[in-house]
Amino acid sequence: MASINENYLKLKAGYLFPEIGRRVTAFAEANPAAKIIRLGIGDVTEPLPVACREAMIAAVEEMGDRASFKGYGPEQGYGWLREKIAQHDFQARGCDVDASEIFISDGSKCDCGNILDIFGSDNRIAVTDPVYPVYVDTNVMAGHTGDANERGEYEGLVYLPISADNNFTAEIPQEKVDLIYLCFPNNPTGATATKEHLKAWVDYARSHGSIILFDAAYEAFITDPELPHSIFEIEGARECAIEFRSFSKNAGFTGTRCALTVVPKALKAKASDGSDVELWKLWNRRQSTKFNGVSYIVQRGAEAVYSEAGQAQVKELVNFYMENASIIRAQLTAAGLQVYGGINAPYVWVKTPNGLSSWDFFDKLLHTCNVVGTPGSGFGAAGEGYFRISAFNSRENVEEATRRITEKFKA
Ligand SMILES: *Cc1c(COP(=O)(O)O)cnc(C)c1O
Repeated sequence: MASINENYLKLKAGYLFPEIGRRVTAFAEANPAAKIIRLGIGDVTEPLPVACREAMIAAVEEMGDRASFKGYGPEQGYGWLREKIAQHDFQARGCDVDASEIFISDGSKCDCGNILDIFGSDNRIAVTDPVYPVYVDTNVMAGHTGDANERGEYEGLVYLPISADNNFTAEIPQEKVDLIYLCFPNNPTGATATKEHLKAWVDYARSHGSIILFDAAYEAFITDPELPHSIFEIEGARECAIEFRSFSKNAGFTGTRCALTVVPKALKAKASDGSDVELWKLWNRRQSTKFNGVSYIVQRGAEAVYSEAGQAQVKELVNFYMENASIIRAQLTAAGLQVYGGINAPYVWVKTPNGLSSWDFFDKLLHTCNVVGTPGSGFGAAGEGYFRISAFNSRENVEEATRRITEKFKA
């Protein structure tokens, strides 16, 4: 019989969202009249911007005409999209990123996992705690860890705790690590990193020959003009960083699928014979071999984000969610809860009151307010005692959910 990749057996069986689902279903069955509001899963709710829709409809028509029909496109993405991204997202902010360094993909989740294809198996890997689970699980699957302990921490990974004590930004490690995952604005804590903080990471990475894997999926939600949107705003980052971006959260593409990864040509890592190898070449080879590009129609939709109308519509969409975040912050604060995030990110990170565990607070909120959030402990051991509330919802749901919370908790 064929054998399996044993590393999959080390994975803590996709625990968080199934367990939330189980508890919500049990509650709903026992309380059929309850109007449950879900502020849990990090998916967008509002429809696609008109500019994107129109561009995709036009692209479908092009595909229906022999003269303008497109077959396979470039594996790296169409030049017209890569150029627009380079100009608008990077060069306009003073980042030295060329269109040829941008790889279009069908999602940042996939890219964050796939990037491990081009790295060795002996790297020391650092993640923050709490963390977006994809970074951890993909390393487990690739065999970069040992087993998980009872706290869910995998042997061999370096966990960098983030909490109120360090302003939710990881401290630079004392030891040497080779790959570092950073996500700012952060999912799940909603925290941001200043230029100074990112500069410290870039300096660390350059002095240790490490690579920063920077996830900027939420950069569009930054409201503070002082905060960096890209790691490439930091001097020296071209020599030590890869950046992941996505159209999922800013343009509502979670179901449409389009993202990008920036691999600078200057970026190098070591081969076992001691030579330096350009990572751009490896990623280009990886993508050309294992990927056949994003749908032409979807790339036209993504391109429309950069039109004048598209820019205005995306801004409106982001502002809508950020007003939700602001309502959540204000109402929860009024309810006497300590809240973090939600100013430059669509997530509010709530300290559970009275020392309740994350899951106890989850149950309390579900049972007393019929509101579903996400227990912080599901994102890592250091998330215990916290709770994530997402601003991705309708205004009506946000207002109703926060009204219920204020009512129950104020008393
Ligand atoms: C939503 C999200 C992404 C985007 O993933 P896609 O696959 O592009 O939809 C990436 N990173 C984080 C942390 C996210 O929350």
